[in-house]
Parts: sequence; C-alpha cells; structure tokens
Amino acid sequence: MNLSNLTAAQGLDLLRRKNISAAEWTDSLLANIGNSQSLNAFITPDEENARRQSRLADAAYADNTPRPLEGLPVAVKDIFCTKDLKTTAASDILKNFVPTYDSTVTLRLQRAGAVILGKTNMDEFAMGSSNENSAFGPARNPWSRDIPLSPGGSSGGSAVAVAARLAPVALGTDTGGSVRQPASLCGVVGFKPTYGRLSRFGVIAFASSLDQPGFIARTVDDIAPLFAVAAGHDPLDSTSAAQEVPARPENISTLNGLRVALPEEFTDNAAPQILSAYEKGAEILRQCGAEIIDASLPHTDYALAAYYIIAPAEASANLARYDGVRYGERAADENASLDELYEASRAAGFGDEVKRRILIGAYVLSAGYYDAYYNRARKVRTLVARDFQNVFEGADLILAPAAASDAFPIGERADPTWMYQQDIFTVPASLAGLPAISLPVMLSENGLPVGLQLIAPHFAEARLLACAKIFEDAAAFTAAPPAVDTE
Ligand code: GLN
Repeated sequence: MNLSNLTAAQGLDLLRRKNISAAEWTDSLLANIGNSQSLNAFITPDEENARRQSRLADAAYADNTPRPLEGLPVAVKDIFCTKDLKTTAASDILKNFVPTYDSTVTLRLQRAGAVILGKTNMDEFAMGSSNENSAFGPARNPWSRDIPLSPGGSSGGSAVAVAARLAPVALGTDTGGSVRQPASLCGVVGFKPTYGRLSRFGVIAFASSLDQPGFIARTVDDIAPLFAVAAGHDPLDSTSAAQEVPARPENISTLNGLRVALPEEFTDNAAPQILSAYEKGAEILRQCGAEIIDASLPHTDYALAAYYIIAPAEASANLARYDGVRYGERAADENASLDELYEASRAAGFGDEVKRRILIGAYVLSAGYYDAYYNRARKVRTLVARDFQNVFEGADLILAPAAASDAFPIGERADPTWMYQQDIFTVPASLAGLPAISLPVMLSENGLPVGLQLIAPHFAEARLLACAKIFEDAAAFTAAPPAVDTE
C-alpha cells in the first residue's frame, strides 16, 4: 500500500492498531515531496526533524503512550512561526527569519504528537488568491495537465500539499478566503472556525481583525481531531475566545429538519459553472433531508469593497514593523540616513501586491479620508454581520459557492481587481467572523474541481462539521488530480 494516500483518520487508525509505523508514513510523504518539486508546494521542507519526530512517535506507540495526533504528518503554511525553522511569509523581507518560538497552533499540534513535514508556499504575507505573489514563485495546482494552473491562494502550497498527497493535512490561514478558496481550486476540504477559536499568537499578522488559522484536509473526518486539539482559549492572544471547545462533531446521521438558506445574492453573482455546482449542492442537501429556504444577505454586494479597505488598513499598520532595524532584512549601505535605510529595505523586501496594500491602507487611514473610507467600511462590516444574524434566525446553515471560478492559468490574470473578485463568496463570512467549510462537490466542464461552502452561526462548529460530513458523503466527490497515483 502507498501510505501517502492515507487520510489523517485512516492513518491514525492504522497507527493505533500498529498496522503501520509513523516512520513509514512520514518517509513515504517525504519521498513524494522530493519527487514533486515542480509543484513548488514547500518553501522549506523539514526532512530531518520530521524523520526524528516520526521515530519518537513510533516509540510512543511501542510504549502504549500515544497522544491524540501521535505520528500524524502535517504541512504548515509558512506564516506560522516555528521555533528554529525558517518562517518567511513568502517575503524577501523575512527570507532569513528563524523564529525563537512556536505559534500556539503549531505548538498544540506538536504537543499532541503531530509531525511537521515543512513549511508551505503562499502569497506574500497572505495577500492574494493565486499564490503568484510568493517571493519563491507560485505553487502549481496538481490538477494542471498541459498549462500550469494556479492552486488559488493565499494558502496555495498547503492546498497543493494535501491534494497531491504530500501531506494528509495542512495548516493555512484565512483572512478573506485563503483556506476555503485554494481548497476549492484543488478539490480538497478547507475549514476556518469562528474568529477567536484558534489563537493567532505566532501567526505573522496581515489583518488582525480578520486573520484566522484554518485546516486543509482530504475529508471532513480529518478536520475534527485537529480542531479539538488546536482550538481553545490562549492567554497569549487577546482576541482568543473563552468558549468551551466541543470534543467532537454532533452525532447526527441525516439533515432531517435542518434549514439551509440559499441567499439570493450568491445566486446572482455566480458564474454559470459555479451556479450549476450551487444548484447541485442544494439538491444534494435536499436529498439528505434538509429544508432549503430562500434568504437574503442584502449588504453582500458591499462586503468585498469593505474588506479591501479594512484588510489593507490593518496590513499597513501591521507591516510598519518591517523597517530593516527592528524586523526584516536591511538593504542599505552604511552611509545611508535612517530614512534612506527604511526606504531601501522596504522597497527591496516587499513585493508589488504588498506595496499596493500598504499604499491603500495608508491612504484610507489618512486624516482626510479616515471617515469616508475606513469608518464607513467598518459600518458596512457591522451591517454584513447583522445580515447573517437575521438569516440565522430562520436557518441553521447557509450554503454558498466557495470560489468565483475553477482553477485558472498561472500568469494570466495581471489585473489585481480581477484577483480581488475571487473572494466575493468567502469575504462575507470573514467580515462576520463566522465558521465556514468548503468542500469539493463536482468537476467543472474543464475537468477541474468546484467547491461549495457551508457557513454556520458563531461557535457552531460541532454542528457544522457534522452536517459537512453528511453533505460530503452524499456528494461523493472521489476524483483525484491526474498525476496522483491513488493505488
Ligand atoms: N485573497 C484575499 C486577499 O488577498 C484573502 C487573503 C487571505 O485570506 N489571506 O486579501
């Protein structure tokens, strides 16, 4: 058996029954990573450490003292700080940054026995929807045949790693869709919990009121154990929630009596092939016993504009620290003045999209424009959140498209506003801080995966994951990328 095809749930089960060893599992994935360098999924693989951790996991099984994720290989987006392991956020300005501490999420996973395989490719500072904004070049979607396709972004490398069987599960971050959109483009599952569930401590900041860690996996079943271990209050993150974390998804076997809302704004905005997936998804839910109800999220049309004010505003503040003195690479000779040093370091260290966001952010926060842009965007954000509250008074879940299109060719989309439109279906739940999961549902006319999202009320992850599992089983999406050997 090729162990790289194991899902997290299958692999952990075989480990507990001592049918496989953690070392074999990790070694087969490391071999795949080595053979798949053309996918550019990893910025920094961590072979040596992964091998060592997997052998320690085997010792724990031999002692009958395994922890909940003992021996589970995990790929980690290169935005999570990992002690003694380079963490670049795919930026030249951090190309030599080796953290002295771990992010809370990676620490909790490791303390539960997970084995980190390495750090995955992404858009620089998580700004982007295609992985093309990486200082290390784009990751490549394993569904590509002739022309190289984008895996989506910003957590593109993590989605590629899972889809191409380089890792059973991966960590991503989702500020406006960066877990859910690449999951959709790569035919895998992407989950972001409620804002505040997963600590942001040690996650390099983009837009702090929106940034969230999330998980990418091949099945819904693989997500629940990661969530159970990683979620929960963290005193090191002041926005972390004190709510108790459910140990497992709700125990339900049908969607009978469940009301799922289909907001009309999503239908109106969907391209034809996305719309047909959306309709198919609604039909599947109906067959599972759910009642499909009409709904409206009237401020959805303004959500994207509000996001592209709020996120750059926060980014411009968060990225001010990379000045070549306190943080970041320095690019100036010794005779440079302080201003010249800042200018040269930031000009050399940041890529175009990051610079664009800093400029937009500084502009919308400037004295004359603060009320007209930033404050107005914050009001729109409140209205978007209120729309969701209203819908959830009459519905348990919302069904929405995940990405605006299927995978698109690398290098073809030069217009940044086209790229911003990719987030049209994911940004609303981000502004409202709601838990959402994207699942592959079908193949498009191009033979490429298309995903849909289920969105739930705050802190309803136990229900969301249970319903997502039923939906996943009924949708029965089993296709794998062409180059992947599924034997
Ligand atoms: N594509 C969006 C952006 O560029 C979302 C990114 C993200 O979720 N990190 O801002």
